[in-house]
Parts: sequence; structure tokens; C-alpha cells
Amino acid sequence: MTKVEQPYVYQRRELVEPDWTRFPGWRGVTQSDWDSAQWQRVNCVRNVKQLRALMGDLLDDRFYADLERDQAERATMSMLVPPQMLNTMVPATSTPMPAAGAEFTEAFYADPIRRYMLPVFSDRRTDWPSHPFASRDSLHEHDMWVAEGLTHRYPTKVLAELLPTCPQYCGHCTRMDLVGNNTPQVNKLKFELKPVDRYDAMLDYLRRTPTVRDVVVSGGDVANMPWKNLEAFIDRLLEIDNIRDIRLATKALMGLPQHWFADDVVEGVARVAATARARGVSLAIHTHVNNAQSVTPAVARASRAMLEAGVRDVRNQGVLMRGINDSPEQLLDLCFALADGASITPYYFYMCDMIPFAEHWRLSLAEAQRLQHSIMGYLPGFSTPRIVCDVPFVGKRWVHQQDEYDTERGISYWRKNYRTSIEGEDTEALSREYVYYDPIYTLPETGQQWWRDSVDHDELLVAAEQRAAASRAAAESQLVDSH
Ligand code: SF4
Repeated sequence: MTKVEQPYVYQRRELVEPDWTRFPGWRGVTQSDWDSAQWQRVNCVRNVKQLRALMGDLLDDRFYADLERDQAERATMSMLVPPQMLNTMVPATSTPMPAAGAEFTEAFYADPIRRYMLPVFSDRRTDWPSHPFASRDSLHEHDMWVAEGLTHRYPTKVLAELLPTCPQYCGHCTRMDLVGNNTPQVNKLKFELKPVDRYDAMLDYLRRTPTVRDVVVSGGDVANMPWKNLEAFIDRLLEIDNIRDIRLATKALMGLPQHWFADDVVEGVARVAATARARGVSLAIHTHVNNAQSVTPAVARASRAMLEAGVRDVRNQGVLMRGINDSPEQLLDLCFALADGASITPYYFYMCDMIPFAEHWRLSLAEAQRLQHSIMGYLPGFSTPRIVCDVPFVGKRWVHQQDEYDTERGISYWRKNYRTSIEGEDTEALSREYVYYDPIYTLPETGQQWWRDSVDHDELLVAAEQRAAASRAAAESQLVDSH
């Protein structure tokens, strides 16, 4: 009998830190420089000039022009890539380094980390660069603020956005409305309160709201908060009896792991973890890794330092994106690298949200459902990631939970079983259907034609803006009422 192979063949792989001295700008960089969070922060690539200085003649001019055009005409996030992340692009760990010029440029274009950290104009769709219903705050987090930066969407959980910056800026950031520097395309929303007043208002809300038991402490990225300020906030959270789960959100565990294995941070985490343990509170770290290439020994060192310091778990919430992790092999390779190599639990993959200029990254619901099916059965159940769709005004749903799905027009319909904080008086909230849209170019030709023919893009955009404005007004009046 012919032996038939499994669709995916597991292989234990050792993690490797790519050799950073392969880049001309880092020829003299030592291990101790590399391990310093300060060196990593100072040497981030923030513009095309700095990328040229690093890459020398490795990249052709056409790449820089493509990147510059994207920054001017499409980017919703400004450029900020730490050395640790740049070094995982074209890692040349198992294959020879491509030759400078055309060969390296091709490899750089194709690289999965490059595709979302340094997006270029030619990556984006030209037919539908944005979905007609794309919006800046696509999850309406701002609409659900119960105090500035505190989103109360689910009955028992809140999201605390402590700061609007990160050590790295991801091209697809779902919080592009608030996070990062202005770009030519996007003026960012600014917090109005001083941080200290904002944190007081958040903690005050949590003290007055015993139905909330779970806080995602996020931003931005908490790695950009001076540790003593973050520790003070966590200590005050730990004093609130109803708070039983605290999750610190930091992509920097992967993007700038040097921050998390620095001695002062490890000591500080050990202090708050000890307090959490003594009070029976679960303190965990949630990070954001999208491709196995990003999982290196430095990331494993940071994750293990956190576990040894006493956090209960380090979990990964990646984002599902075309060209980055859209095959079962890429997803499973990533999950095994996380679990085996870095003691990080694969937890979620979010479908990429409907923000402007993200269509080339987004997958259809049908594609996400196929991927979820394909990755079942290889990992332990507790670390088999759920692929989730964050449906506007609903929240996370597993991708198979839609009520109905019009695959021709790419419209899925969803229901929910709780009210968000802006629906306290909405009697229809639990019976209403909520919609999510597939990228139009993934639809059959008849569906694409339907969008082209029957929909006036300007009208759709106006309608979407009106809906968002109405919900913002409702949220603001609720905020006023609650003060
Ligand atoms: S780290 Fe998170 S919040 Fe920061 S830019 Fe990336 S996706 Fe956005």
C-alpha cells in the first residue's frame, strides 16, 4: 500500500537568532548592544533614510520609492521598526543570503514580516484599496469608552488603553485611529486628559462596577510605559476586589524582547506577580506574533523570564493576514515555534479588521473557516488557537459562529448574547443582525459586479460615517449621563 503523508508534518525546530551583521549598517554591533533595550529603541528604523543607511546597496531604489509613496498616500501608521524585528526579515538562517540588488529586493518584497511592518504602495489593492465600510475605529472602541481610554464592550471585561504609543508600529494596526504618530492620511485622535487623571477615572469606574472582573491593560503597548508607572497602575488594579484577571498586552515581547528581559523589568514583574498570586488574581501577558520567523531565542528568553518572574501564562494573539500567515503550514509552524521554542500559548488569530487600506491583508470569512478546519488536531486543545472575527458592535466570534453567510456578496450576519455598554436601553440589541464584510476582490465575479453596480461608493461612505457619528453621539451622551 502507498503511504500517504499527513497534510502537515510536525518537525521540532530549534530557534535561531539571525546574524544581524549581515546588514551593512550593523556590521559592528555587538551582542551586548543587541541585548540592550536602549540600543534597540535608539536604533529603530523610522524613515526611508534610516533604512537606506542600514541596508546599503542590498535593496534597489524601486523599493525605497515604493515605500515612500506608501507613506505619503496609503499608510495609516508611521514607520517604526526595532532592529529585533528588522533582523527577522530575510533571515537567511537556512538558505544562503540573497545577492545584493534584484535578488535581495525580491526576497525582501516577499518577506512576511516586511509585508506588514514595512508595507509598500504596490502591496495594496488598486481595485478596492479600502472596503466601502472600512472605518478608522472599526471596532467602535472609542464609542464604548466609559472613561477616557477605557472600552467596556463585554459584560465582564474591559480594555484599558493606557497610552497611545508602541515600540513598533504595525501597518495593519486596528487602533490606527488612536495609536502612533499622524501620517499624511490620518490625523490621530488625541487623549484629552493627563495620564494620571485618565488612570484615576479608569480605576474609579472599575471600583464602581463590580460586574467587571477582567482587565486587558493595553495601549498602544505597555512596554512604552515607564515601568514604575505601569507597576503603580497594576498595584492599584490589584487592590480592587472584583478584578480577578489582568492581562498585559505587549507586542514588544516579540518586537523588542530586550525590554522584557531587562533586569529592572523582570524584578518589577516578579513583584506584581507575587502580589497577584497572593490575592488569587491571574496575571498574564498577551503578545502579538504573526509568523514563525519572528520567534527567536531572544523572544524565548523574554517569555521565559516572564514565566519565571511568576506570570501565569504568556499567550499569543496574532492577526490573520494574506501573505503573512494565510496557510495551514504557516499557522502551524508559528504555533509550534511559540509553544515548543518559547513557552508561549497560541491563543487567538484575529481576522484583520476593516480599517482603511487593509483590503490586501484581509481574508474572507470562508478562507478563515477553512484555515480553522485545517489546523485542528495538531496541537493540544488548550493551545489550538481560535480564529476569530471581531464583528463591529458585537465582539469576538469564532469564525464558524455566523448566523447566515451570503458568500456571493461576501456579507456575513451575526448575533450576540450580551449588550455592550452603549446598549443599556436597546431592546433590539440581542435580536438584531450585525454584519461583517469579506474583501470584495475575493468574491465571485457576480458578487463583485453587485458591489460595482448597485453601490455608490460615496453614498456608502457617507452612510457608514453617519452610522459611526450616530453611535459616537449615543456613546457621548451616555458618558455625560454617567458623570
Ligand atoms: S503593537 Fe499593537 S497597538 Fe501597537 S501598532 Fe502594533 S498592532 Fe497596533
